[in-house]
Amino acid sequence: MMPKKRVADEKKIKGILEQRGYKGGKPPRGYEVHHTKPLAAGGKDTPENIRVIKTSTHRQIHKNRRARGDE
Ligand SMILES: [Zn+2]
Repeated sequence: MMPKKRVADEKKIKGILEQRGYKGGKPPRGYEVHHTKPLAAGGKDTPENIRVIKTSTHRQIHKNRRARGDE
């Protein structure tokens, strides 16, 4: 059996973003939610682990991680 991929808890993330004042609990246009510690590495959907960053920055981070073989 394949290991289950951890999926972000969208409801939890929405709540965290709402608390931070993001309208509708969503990142603004051009921004995305990023987990500082990847879910695959045991990161959680917690305020400490969630950042709202520019989509372009986000893409670069994950590109770098893939290049390092981290994901
Ligand atoms: Zn990310």
